[in-house]
Amino acid sequence: MATNLRAAAHSALRHVFGYSSFRAGQFAIIEHVTRGGNALVLMPTGGGKSLCYQLPALLRRGTTVVVSPLIALMKDQVDALTQAGVAAAVLNSSLSAEAIRATEAKLLAAELDLLYIAPERLAKPATRALLERSQLALLAIDEAHCVSRWGHDFRPDYLALKDVINRFADVPRIALTATADAATRADIVQQLALEDAYQHVASFDRPNICYNVVDKANAKKQVLHFIQRDHPDGAGIVYCMSRKRTEDMAAYLQARGINAQPYHAGLPAAIRDKHQHQFLQGDLQVMTATIAFGMGIDKPDVRFVAHLDLPKNLEGYYQETGRAGRDGTPASTLLTYGLQDAVSLRRLLAQSTADEAFKRVETQKLEALLGYCESVQCRRQVLLAYFGETLAEPCGNCDTCLNPPKTWDATVAAQMLLSCIYRSGQRFGAGHVIDILLGKATKRVLELNHNSLSTYGIGTDHSDTTWRMLLRNLVATGYITTDADGYGVLKLTAQSAGVLKGKTQILARQVAPARARDKASQQTATRRVRTLEPTAVEPSQEPLWTALKALRTEFARNQQVPPYVIFRDLSLREMMSTVPTSLAEMRSITGVGEVKLERYGQAFLDVLNDHRVAESNTDEPATEQLLPTSHNKKMMMIAADGQHRRVSDLAKDVSNAITTASSTDETVDNIFANPAEDSASDDADVLGDTLNLIYAGCSVQETAEKLGITVKQVQTHCLELIKRGHLTPREATELAMSDLEAIEQVVFSLAETGRVSPKQVYTALEQRYSLYDVRCVYTALEQ
Ligand code: ADP
Ligand code: ZN
Repeated sequence: MATNLRAAAHSALRHVFGYSSFRAGQFAIIEHVTRGGNALVLMPTGGGKSLCYQLPALLRRGTTVVVSPLIALMKDQVDALTQAGVAAAVLNSSLSAEAIRATEAKLLAAELDLLYIAPERLAKPATRALLERSQLALLAIDEAHCVSRWGHDFRPDYLALKDVINRFADVPRIALTATADAATRADIVQQLALEDAYQHVASFDRPNICYNVVDKANAKKQVLHFIQRDHPDGAGIVYCMSRKRTEDMAAYLQARGINAQPYHAGLPAAIRDKHQHQFLQGDLQVMTATIAFGMGIDKPDVRFVAHLDLPKNLEGYYQETGRAGRDGTPASTLLTYGLQDAVSLRRLLAQSTADEAFKRVETQKLEALLGYCESVQCRRQVLLAYFGETLAEPCGNCDTCLNPPKTWDATVAAQMLLSCIYRSGQRFGAGHVIDILLGKATKRVLELNHNSLSTYGIGTDHSDTTWRMLLRNLVATGYITTDADGYGVLKLTAQSAGVLKGKTQILARQVAPARARDKASQQTATRRVRTLEPTAVEPSQEPLWTALKALRTEFARNQQVPPYVIFRDLSLREMMSTVPTSLAEMRSITGVGEVKLERYGQAFLDVLNDHRVAESNTDEPATEQLLPTSHNKKMMMIAADGQHRRVSDLAKDVSNAITTASSTDETVDNIFANPAEDSASDDADVLGDTLNLIYAGCSVQETAEKLGITVKQVQTHCLELIKRGHLTPREATELAMSDLEAIEQVVFSLAETGRVSPKQVYTALEQRYSLYDVRCVYTALEQ
């Protein structure tokens, strides 16, 4: 029997799904469930949960009912199963009465292997009566964390499952989720009566995802740069806290040439569906969305997930970021995090009308999230520890591993801050408290006579930025609290006393110069993503790759399914590397089961074959294919000897300068600690202010407004800062990487012909960029 089951499972795996072996854990679950046992499966996104019930569905007599929370998810799964030749259908509110009747008839005639149902439909007496007349093989509860109030996606409809389970107690059940901390897991077991279930808890680690958290300065711009720099072509999701923000962000990205659309529950269903459809089809690069978007989105090639605002808690964060890189190839995430986020989340929680126990749990979860953001430890270690897993070594693929943060002993500074909050009466927010520390004679300070406080002006050793970071750290770690009304009023806590008495040491992250951060991430995260970017293929393979994708798109369009439902990228890549020449060879490609082989095998073989013939007809490789990309061109120019020496030296110096500047970990504070060594006549303080604001994400215009000086003056400062190596053109302008490269190109090519001036570059570029933009690039190269 055992070998029979194993053989039958393998045969179905091979012939229906086109896979050659089970992933770790899958077979044990499948065996247990096929024999009639219950199971609870916790596997990360992309781990292969679906197979754990789809295969038993094929092996057991009767129909497997799959409870799934989202119509989109059901449709995707049913499409994929139908493509593989499995009899699957869906019952949900989006169908016509006629379609529903047809599906019900099939169910009663025992013609369905799998039936996907939304929980609210399952709760209806009519549906139950229908199921009672059918033969049920298995009950699969997908996204099972939705049953728990502790989970971040609680859906009251899932509670109706309890009754269904009671009614069909003799039908085996399997609950699956990609997210569940200990409390949620226990709750799932209780709610779904899985005390006797076989539990499979896979490692939650997603090693292909690179986690990044950045200080929120100008979040939109930070996300824009992240996309432009790391994912110029890759699909991604930008999560936002509100509906309005998703729309603003989409417009912001669109205005900067990125194909983005919003998704939130307030949009008309037709628009929502359209955007989702475009995203799944690969026709839309970026979805800016609330958390309404994503659960069950099966798109395997999402390359990045960015959070414009803090997520609600770590489970939510892990689930949302988990939508990146389901295909197992490199992906990255960005979370922008600022004090205001923590304040708003605290306020929401305080204002919630939920009971105290609930609020307590939520507060702990918020603390864990803030702790994650502030952590100086490997992000993955913190995340996995939260899910009860231990990662022995730092991962080497997160921002803290790749660019370890420096810490400083901030105990004395923390004492100043706490005492300033206390002395000003615990009635003010961050801005005012920091103004006092910095001894700023603002109107408010003078009105309140706060210039006579003993803490007035005692904090001038640190910058505004440093104070804000420290403050946020102390709020996140519970040494300072913000009022429940949400005005950001700072108050001391019971823990504060330890710091004030000198019993507690405070270690804080040092503010890294933006440039060092930028460069570190370019060198590390970017390099990983770029060089391993799974969409990149060898230039010589490009035509074949394009042809295979075009064929896939054609099939997908005709059948109105996403391209990956026909074949995943992985399958197409395998076709390119192994080049099957017959249907028999095609059969061994991952993801090619019998039905897909019959439907598409020959068409794909033809494309492979045509390509082979075309290649053997060409004696010399086509010169166009060897033409360097603009990037390579630059490298060639730089590497060339003789007359290009000057250009090459120029470039080398620039890269040396960047390396030196960022490896000495200057803080914003001490960059100007010793301005005397520079003979420039600019007042170092004013330059420092400009630098701080630019680092904080302000544009030149905004900096001018904040400092009350002219745009021209700020531009002069920026040019000086670039000259001194403290700023990059990227930071000093709004230019995209491609613009910078375009300007560089012209500088390089004019340099080849002799002396070159910014004005000449500006003219050669037909005034497409401002003279200031050109100057910035020119000055950096000159350095
Ligand atoms: P989950 O539901 O856990 O997020 P899926 O069930 O969608 O993940 O599986 C993720 C991907 O892995 C899918 O492309 C799926 O077809 C593939 N997969 C699952 N099991 C196997 C296997 N044994 N061999 C090869 N690919 C598999
Ligand atoms: Zn790490």
